[in-house]
Amino acid sequence: MHATMMNYPLTTNHLIARAAKLFGEVEIVSQAPDRSLIRHTYADLHARSRALAHGLLTAGLQPGDRVATLMWNHHAHMEVYFGVPMAGGVYHTLNLRLSPEDLAHIVSDAGDRYLVIDDVLLPLLAKFGGRPPFERIFVVRWTDQLVPEGLHEYEGLIGAGAPADWTPPPANENDPIGMCYTSGTTGRPKGVVYSHRATVLHSLASALPDSLDLSVRDSLCPVVPMFHVNAWGLPFTATMVGAKQVHPGPHLQPDALLDLWAKERVNVSAGVPTIWMGIMKLVAQDPGKWQLQPNLRMVVGGSAAPESMIAAMDELGMQVIHAWGMTETTPLGSVARLQPKHAQLPAAEQLKIRAKQGIAPPFVEMRVVDDQGREVAWDGEKIGELQVRGPWVAAGYHGGVEAADKWTEDGWFRTGDVVTIDADGYMQITDRTKDLVKSGGEWISSVALENALMGHADVAEAAVVAVPHPKWTERPIAVVVAKPGKQLDEAALTAYLAERFEKWWLPDGYVVREEIPRGATGKFLKRQLRDELVSWFDDKPG
Ligand code: ADP
Repeated sequence: MHATMMNYPLTTNHLIARAAKLFGEVEIVSQAPDRSLIRHTYADLHARSRALAHGLLTAGLQPGDRVATLMWNHHAHMEVYFGVPMAGGVYHTLNLRLSPEDLAHIVSDAGDRYLVIDDVLLPLLAKFGGRPPFERIFVVRWTDQLVPEGLHEYEGLIGAGAPADWTPPPANENDPIGMCYTSGTTGRPKGVVYSHRATVLHSLASALPDSLDLSVRDSLCPVVPMFHVNAWGLPFTATMVGAKQVHPGPHLQPDALLDLWAKERVNVSAGVPTIWMGIMKLVAQDPGKWQLQPNLRMVVGGSAAPESMIAAMDELGMQVIHAWGMTETTPLGSVARLQPKHAQLPAAEQLKIRAKQGIAPPFVEMRVVDDQGREVAWDGEKIGELQVRGPWVAAGYHGGVEAADKWTEDGWFRTGDVVTIDADGYMQITDRTKDLVKSGGEWISSVALENALMGHADVAEAAVVAVPHPKWTERPIAVVVAKPGKQLDEAALTAYLAERFEKWWLPDGYVVREEIPRGATGKFLKRQLRDELVSWFDDKPG
């Protein structure tokens, strides 16, 4: 045996202990439901996470026990992120926008033992019917409301804190620490279990300058909820680098966010495209109102950031960083940033690259496989399903569900996204396998049509869905929302698209709506639209 290096465990316990030691005074700011700002530091976060771990062990937590959360983004949620794994438990973030059926299914599938809940969210317990299925419920109090009988105060659990000489039980880097369910856009939510090691490596890769470029110099506001893939892992990444954290609590309206960013000098934020649409509108309306940090960076993912949006944000002095990921990939799988070799390209070409989903960070491998199971070339043209593997890509779902068709025999994860990869390695999503329009044996990209429609001056939002057709199998129908005060004209939209796509790609019809239905993570609910439009061609044969 040759001695090489120490087998030092990669755990989140190290991240928080180090932050307390080196960045102990750096702030973690949380916006309370009454919009007051609660100020903690990394030293506080460490002390309170230790106290929580100690309190949970005293309350009987066993290794691997699940502690569910129903909470907004704030310091207590971060304490659960660090404190539960420190005790050897597994936190499980529940998406508070889910339906009662999905919530009940997820809680029982995960086998959650405890729950930590914001008092302002207590009404959600009604979603579980008469008896919520948790052994004990701890309530984080933000208001004067008394804790209902039978429930416990979270501050009581933290109590006097952990004794100074208490050390957490030793952790193995492959131990599970957290759980999150897929958002269920294309099927029943499935549980993904994160480990210490995956979370730490994901943090290292996310912070890289060519990824999200996070450092101790940043003031970060994750708008993406902590119940959506760990707020994309940002609370861990920010703790690793010692960045200031600013959590919006329940106030996600654009004006509240802008107030908070101005006050706390936020220079990096992250969220789904819908959030930025609202922000852009307000800033464009009243450019002088908020004193924002120059070159505010917005990490955008979850669904595609259209070129039109990236360009409009540039105009307002805000930089979109387009990233792709999934619950199953912790989530960072790619980032679209320009490189020196792109510097000479015309602005329009640069914009196209930034609107792609981007290149994989170190240790994430990608390949594209066609429907015959053959790997396709990286030429930016050939499409196929994206498959990935890496140390923060799930190896299976909790309980082993649906494993058979999601992982290949040679150990790659099938993303269900239909993509091209160009010669430089930039991946671009053309659709999800379940949303592609299969017309006469050819495929039409619903995403390409949507992005083009959203570039039209009068269109606020667009979703294109595949509708069964007697002759062509499926044809695209576009559901569109007009910008305020605008009228949408079908012929004009068709003419607009005809400049960009072949004739057979053009939607067979348009439905103008007030809004497009969205799922619990803000994505278009195309499943619902498809169901509503399923008989579109019934009385229009041929
Ligand atoms: P669900 O799969 O239930 O929607 P996830 O939140 O895990 O839940 O979503 C992952 C999916 O979101 C990806 O497979 C992809 O289809 C979509 N997605 C994520 N980021 C982007 C992006 N930047 N552009 C387009 N689609 C994206």
